[in-house]
Amino acid sequence: MKKIPLSRVFLNDEVRNAAIRALESGSYILAKECEAFEAELADYTGTKHAVLCSSCTAGVFMLHQAMGVKPGDEILVPSHTAFPSIEPMIHCGAKPVFIDIDETYCLDVDLLETSITPRTVGILPVHLYGHPANLDRVFEIAQKHGLWIVEDCAQAHGARFKDKRVGSLGVAGAFSFFPSKNLSVLGDGGCITTNDTALADHLRMLRNHGRKTKYVHELVGYNLRFNEIQAAIGRVGLRKLDELNAQRRRIAA
Ligand SMILES: *Cc1c(COP(=O)(O)O)cnc(C)c1O
Repeated sequence: MKKIPLSRVFLNDEVRNAAIRALESGSYILAKECEAFEAELADYTGTKHAVLCSSCTAGVFMLHQAMGVKPGDEILVPSHTAFPSIEPMIHCGAKPVFIDIDETYCLDVDLLETSITPRTVGILPVHLYGHPANLDRVFEIAQKHGLWIVEDCAQAHGARFKDKRVGSLGVAGAFSFFPSKNLSVLGDGGCITTNDTALADHLRMLRNHGRKTKYVHELVGYNLRFNEIQAAIGRVGLRKLDELNAQRRRIAA
C-alpha cells in the first residue's frame, strides 16, 4: 500500500544553495542570515520584531518567563491542541485551564469567561490547522479581565485574522519551523513575533545566556539560540510560503 505523507519539506536547489552559502560563510550562530530572517519574518507578519530561537516551545517558555508567569497562575488554552502548547506553563508552575473547542477546532469563545478566576493571567489561543481563533471576542474578554494574549501560531504561518497576520495581534505570537509545519526548516526552529521592543530585547537576552553584549550577562538565561544554516533555509521557504499555502488549499479542496 502506498502511503501519502502528511506533509513534505520544501527542498529545491535554491534551498541547497542557501545551506551551502551558510556553511561556507564562517559564521554559524545568530549572525547575518538569522538577522535577515528575523527582519523578513517581522515584515511578513507585520510586527516590529521577530526573535528566532531553537523551537516554538522554547520561545513560549522564554515568553512566559519574560512576562513573569509564576506558580499558581492560570492560563486559558484550548483542550484540543499539540501537547507543547502547555509544557511551558507547567515548567513555570502555572496551571493550564482547558477550554473546549468550537466547529473551527479553535477555542470556543463562549466558554472562556466562565473559566476565568482571580488567578487567571492570560489566554493562549491556538490557530489550529491554520485556522485563526475568533480573536475579536478573545480580545474583548481579555481586555475586560486584564489578561494577556499569546498566540500559538505553530500551525498557522501566513494565516490572517481579518486584515492582519496571526502573530501580530496578541502580546506576542509563537511560530514553529519543525519539518511538518507550513514554513519549515530542515531541523528544529521557532520564533516569537511582537511589537513590544522591551519584550523582544528580553527574549534576545534569555535565548543567549542572558547576554546584553559579548561579555556582559545581565540575566541568567539559557542557550536556546538559532543557527545560520537553518535561517538561510528558512529564508527561501518564507519567500515560497504564500505559494505553498495556496497549493495546500488547492489540494485540500
Ligand atoms: C508543533 C507545535 C508546537 C511546538 O512547536 P516546536 O517547534 O516543536 O516546539 C506548539 N503548538 C502547536 C499547535 C504545534 O503544532
